[in-house]
Amino acid sequence: MDLMQLRAMAKINLGLDVVRKREDGYHEVRMIMQTIRMFDRVTVYRIPEPEIRISSNLHFLPVNENNIAYKAARMMLESQPVRGGVSISLQKRIPVAAGMAGGSADAAAVLYAMNRIFYMGYTLEELMDFGLRLGADVPYCLMRGTALAEGIGEELTRLPACPPCYVVIAKPAISVSTRFVYENLRLDETTRHPDIYGLADAICRQDLYGMLPYMGNVLESVTIPAYPIIGEIKERFMENGALISLMSGSGPTVFALFDNYEMALRAKEALLEWGQVPLVYVTDLYRVREETPVNYW
Ligand code: ATP
Repeated sequence: MDLMQLRAMAKINLGLDVVRKREDGYHEVRMIMQTIRMFDRVTVYRIPEPEIRISSNLHFLPVNENNIAYKAARMMLESQPVRGGVSISLQKRIPVAAGMAGGSADAAAVLYAMNRIFYMGYTLEELMDFGLRLGADVPYCLMRGTALAEGIGEELTRLPACPPCYVVIAKPAISVSTRFVYENLRLDETTRHPDIYGLADAICRQDLYGMLPYMGNVLESVTIPAYPIIGEIKERFMENGALISLMSGSGPTVFALFDNYEMALRAKEALLEWGQVPLVYVTDLYRVREETPVNYW
């Protein structure tokens, strides 16, 4: 097998809390990660030349060593003596710099594909260790499904698949710097922390409605005052029948959950008619089949 074409799937955070700022500048987080059925198509194939070639359908993405998919490929090629190199093509559909881990998902796909193509023999855990050196979300992007993430995001505990529902994603035409958000996060006694363990319990009970009171994203306390459009999108979603609406990651993407497909479609139409959000998608959750924990890509 010299070629693999994979779906690198996006994530949303059903809950995101920052527990504390560490001495080393990192933030200790507690999050519920959920893969959604929105993906980049990542094609990886072996070439005889000892090179890494990369191309993308988005002209503004770097197609050199600054692309995280390139870094993943270089790490794999340097990890074992192999013959030849790789060509990587990224068909991006996950919005970039949106809080949906699109780059991390691409990197995870490259690690997974190269392990197979070059018969490197790494376990999923070993690939996750490589991934962590590329970014805190990469190990989760290899694992996929529903998971509790702690530490800096790398301490992962698989949860049962979240109860089925529909997800509407809205990406406003603004950029939000992750660094800005974390630097401006103030944690004190007034901070409203979502109850992430309560959320995990509700997922374990398969109680979609019971999850709702525990869901939240502590980073909204920074982004909504700075970018009011994020709060306005959440309000639009709630007016249009969402069970809940939250920002994903450090934003600016906002998602909403629906228990009814028609309502999800109507909410999408309402947001597009409003004219303030250029990108709105309806999708659903990606559920990992627990009986096939490794070869599920
Ligand atoms: P996260 O949720 O992990 O913070 P994100 O969705 O906010 O991720 P990405 O889309 O992964 O952000 O990309 C953030 C930055 O990384 C962009 O500025 C982009 O130029 C750069 N980048 C490098 N490689 C990629 C890639 N393969 N796909 C997307 N962005 C990439």
